[in-house]
Amino acid sequence: MPKPVVAIVGRPNVGKSTIFNRIVGERVSIVEDIPGVTRDRIYAEAEWLTHQFNIIDTGGIEIGDEPFLAQIRHQAEIAIDEADVIIFVTNGREGLTAADEEVAKILYRSNKPVVLAVNKIDNPNMREQIFDFYSLGFGEPFPISGSHGIGLGDLLDEVVKHFKNKTEEEYDEDIIKFSLIGRPNVGKSSLVNAILGEERVIVSDIAGTTRDAIDTTFTYNGQDFVIIDTAGMRKKGKVYESTEKYSVLRALKAIERSDVVLVVLNGEEGIIEQDKRIAGYAHEAGKGVVIVVNKWDAVEKDEKTMKQFEQKIRDHFLFLDYAPMVFLSAKTKKRLHTLMPNIIMASENHAKRVQTNVLNDVIMDAVAMNPTPTDKGTRLKIYYATQVAVKPPTFVIFVNDPELLHFSYERFLENRIRDAFGFEGTPIKIIARARK
Ligand code: GDP
Ligand code: GDP
Repeated sequence: MPKPVVAIVGRPNVGKSTIFNRIVGERVSIVEDIPGVTRDRIYAEAEWLTHQFNIIDTGGIEIGDEPFLAQIRHQAEIAIDEADVIIFVTNGREGLTAADEEVAKILYRSNKPVVLAVNKIDNPNMREQIFDFYSLGFGEPFPISGSHGIGLGDLLDEVVKHFKNKTEEEYDEDIIKFSLIGRPNVGKSSLVNAILGEERVIVSDIAGTTRDAIDTTFTYNGQDFVIIDTAGMRKKGKVYESTEKYSVLRALKAIERSDVVLVVLNGEEGIIEQDKRIAGYAHEAGKGVVIVVNKWDAVEKDEKTMKQFEQKIRDHFLFLDYAPMVFLSAKTKKRLHTLMPNIIMASENHAKRVQTNVLNDVIMDAVAMNPTPTDKGTRLKIYYATQVAVKPPTFVIFVNDPELLHFSYERFLENRIRDAFGFEGTPIKIIARARK
């Protein structure tokens, strides 16, 4: 089931990003310690009671050097386009402003539910500040304090009331869903067309257009796939369409629905910082990853070029060391046939379960080979390991004290698990738990 999306809007400095960070909390990430992954705090998963949702800080999406009012107007439009529920944030200390009314005007035009928050109400005797805000016409304003974490519970109670059961998309468990992400012009659309035009590919349905993407289902060697194409669906005429943050937002939504993500690079241009950020999102989402170097036809090469290019990419994307890499041309179709087998492999490994007894043998052998570390006189003890989830494969290791499982040792265990079971194409997660 796709998760509902909540967007935060409001003029600058009312406290949107403070509230966003509060709601998101500090999630434990699988890549925390891995250099090279830049976090972008405009889109994140969040949870309230039993509800899981995604949340967007539209304030983080800046549109070029547009004037102030145009800027916030576009952010409100993005919220309307992308979200199921909108949190409209105002500042109770400053009171109602013309810019607030401007945002309100745009929100009136949508049918999306709007929950009005009056922020910076840091103590109860400031509560009467909220009365002015009734005039915005969004019902009862919720007094909150983002920086003190006051009132957010009531606000979120109201937000989740508006969640509807989405039935938009539901694919079978055995369908492999994949998407393509990458900078503009690396050739994502061309690659989608090339894949769908492949000889062994039988397209079954192109109709599935969701709000964010065009889903095409097809069969390849008897296996069903869905290709989630956001590049092909451009929101024509929208000013914010070409901004980087907005395309990131679209990519993140596609990644979320995918089993495997193709990180598409332009072989002709090499790697730039933006590629690294984009690749980081795929990794952080815990999806299978295949690195695709496109436009290989346009690269002058000898027998060493591919190896050298691969090494360069590996050096840049240390956190994607598990991802297979394919070099191809969407234009000439050269080496295109190497892509689908890699998507299948990544997807199989992403969903792979290993036997508990074999896993424990591997861990114990690893410990025998490289003794567990000690910290302040206490040695890490590993009692037992078990795989608790797939997509991505997730392992819980029961230990005497989780603090003692340092990153380097965790990395060592991960590598032993990879050597033993071959998880090529998928990240894996290791979680240490204390056994009393
Ligand atoms: P944004 O531009 O809307 O994302 O606003 P920020 O989250 O960056 O906050 C703007 C300023 O308001 C920062 O200095 C925050 O520390 C401050 N701020 C945010 N929430 C509160 C609050 O609840 N009370 C007070 N007093 N200050 C806040
Ligand atoms: P997108 O923005 O990532 O979807 O990129 P497009 O698919 O629109 O492609 C951008 C440009 O790159 C177009 O002019 C394509 O014709 C060109 N292009 C795409 N794939 C290849 C390729 O494999 N080789 C070469 N030489 N050009 C390509």
